[in-house]
Amino acid sequence: MDYVDLHVHSNASDGSLSPRDLVAEAKNRSMRAIALTDHDTTEGLDEALAAGAALGLEIIPGIEISADHKPGSMHILGLFIDHRHNGLDEQLKILKRARAERNPLIIAKLQKFGLAITMEEVTEVAGGGQVGRPHIARVLVDKGYVASFQEAFDRFLGNHAPAYVNKFRFSPQKAIAMITAAGGVAALAHPFTLEYTSFGHLKTILQQLRDWGLTAIEVFYPEHSREKQQSYKNLAGELGLLMTGGSDYHGIIKPEVKIGLVGPGQHVAYELVEKLKEKVGQVQLQTLNLSM
Ligand code: AMP
Ligand code: ZN
Ligand code: FE
Ligand code: FE
Repeated sequence: MDYVDLHVHSNASDGSLSPRDLVAEAKNRSMRAIALTDHDTTEGLDEALAAGAALGLEIIPGIEISADHKPGSMHILGLFIDHRHNGLDEQLKILKRARAERNPLIIAKLQKFGLAITMEEVTEVAGGGQVGRPHIARVLVDKGYVASFQEAFDRFLGNHAPAYVNKFRFSPQKAIAMITAAGGVAALAHPFTLEYTSFGHLKTILQQLRDWGLTAIEVFYPEHSREKQQSYKNLAGELGLLMTGGSDYHGIIKPEVKIGLVGPGQHVAYELVEKLKEKVGQVQLQTLNLSM
């Protein structure tokens, strides 16, 4: 069984498992490789790489960067990055500050709606990792203000909901450049969250992203129907993009999602990783030539 999961989160961002426990869970699920792709942070990668070496699981150093896009959200996955790259680290510090400024503003809005929630409660749920809206949602569920994680987003926290607070994001071009400069390949995560109006519209966006250096598109994802997977696969073929796939595992934050599953009984083949690796070599050569 040569299966992979190229999109998982640890408690360095908004997953519930530590990088070590995450690697153990992936091993239990018979994965051959996983990419740890925490939101805007690489802080879980050293622990994941060490655990992977100990347990015999290939760890692909990754990241998921939120890029500026309207009306929906654009997440760019970086795979095979050098997570100790200085330039990348400097840029991520900017995002960390943006989050630190934004979270208290969301809490203040919720308090204005009469909900008794504090920043301390949210920080505690995050357990020392980077704080995000899923942690706030968790607290709202735990305190009984909403019946479910999804309701927390629908009523309060979602991009179009009343307690939403925007935060600084890099442009898609910049996000792709950061990943490429760190030796990685960039992939558009869960394309449907762009809220594109048609496949033609999505194609236009993808062409632009490809011109900026995008290498792949996340075709396999639990929220993509088989039809959608096929459409994305066709688009990738037309545009000369590679495919990735992953579960977007978050542990108990999204309990219905299991590592390695991108649909009922559906897994992602290791073959995708081999194709990506060929590309990584090419990207690194190009970057080397540019800097010489
Ligand atoms: P943040 O990084 O703090 O902006 O939080 C982003 C995360 O919140 C995403 O990765 C999703 O896991 C979750 N999220 C955002 N919007 C929604 C939504 N409408 N419904 C459910 N989860 C969402
Ligand atoms: Zn997340
Ligand atoms: Fe995402
Ligand atoms: Fe994700």
